[in-house]
Amino acid sequence: MKPAPFDYTRPRDWSAALAALAAGARPTAGGQSLGPMLNLRLAMPETIADLRHLPGFGVIDQQRDCVRIGAGTTHARIEDGAVPGQVGAILARIARNIAYRAVRNRGTLGGSLSHADPAADWVTVLPAFPGHAIALGPEGERRIPLGCFVTGVFAVALQETELLQAVELPMLPEGTRFGHWKFCRKPGEFSKASACVLALPGSAPRAVLAALDQRPLVIDDAAALLAAPEAEAARIVEGLRLADPWREALARVALRNAAQEAA
Ligand SMILES: Cc1cc2nc3c(=O)[nH]c(=O)nc-3n(C[C@H](O)[C@H](O)[C@H](O)COP(=O)(O)OP(=O)(O)OC[C@H]3O[C@@H](n4cnc5c(N)ncnc54)[C@H](O)[C@@H]3O)c2cc1C
Repeated sequence: MKPAPFDYTRPRDWSAALAALAAGARPTAGGQSLGPMLNLRLAMPETIADLRHLPGFGVIDQQRDCVRIGAGTTHARIEDGAVPGQVGAILARIARNIAYRAVRNRGTLGGSLSHADPAADWVTVLPAFPGHAIALGPEGERRIPLGCFVTGVFAVALQETELLQAVELPMLPEGTRFGHWKFCRKPGEFSKASACVLALPGSAPRAVLAALDQRPLVIDDAAALLAAPEAEAARIVEGLRLADPWREALARVALRNAAQEAA
């Protein structure tokens, strides 16, 4: 199927992008999720606003104790090590297993997070970080904790008049531990189960379980999970009352394996 006809605009600055949004345009970054939705006519916007030429959209800026990653940063740049430090190493490991290189060359961190597919990789990993999504709207910048950004299946905390401008992540102190596990039937496919655990020295470890039929489960204090991965993963997943036994088994294994790696 072909997309329904639409107009195309390429705002050159953020106020023009916000004006286009206010006038009803649908933003796009890499087009790797919106493109298929247009083709299937699941989305039929009158106008598409291409964000890729906005100033700073794909800029990575290391500040004193955090790194600000422009929403338009592609998965491929992250895979290639553009984000500094241990946080960059963790993100590169995740990016390298998103889809195929062709998709990663165009798909963006911000597009993926805004799309909020429950099985997407950034949707699984970023809520574990004590960082923020930076939303820009008519009233200015708004900081949304990453653990609260995804509010449901294909639903996020952005208002209709807001764009995701960047993601801010802390530089990770020495001694940070991370575990991640995902299951896909073949490389390049969305995961059927995924989980991660991030343990910063001196803070409660955080865990995320995703690829569920609901928003990712964010566990703010996963100390018990790190202490007894097998038993705690079973207890947590049982509480979700997933419909299919195979999904329950995979979710349990994802959470256990991520916790075992971090522990
Ligand atoms: C074959 C294939 C396999 C894939 N496999 C995986 C996978 O294994 N794991 C995975 O995580 N992903 C996978 N993806 C999805 C891929 O990661 C996309 O890049 C990503 O989901 C969307 O990013 P994008 O930049 O292309 O956004 P777009 O497609 O341009 O936009 C996606 C949505 O976000 C909105 N949007 C985009 N940018 C912004 C912004 N800055 N502010 C507000 N709203 C915005 C758009 O309006 C749209 O609703 C796959 C895609 C394909 C085509």
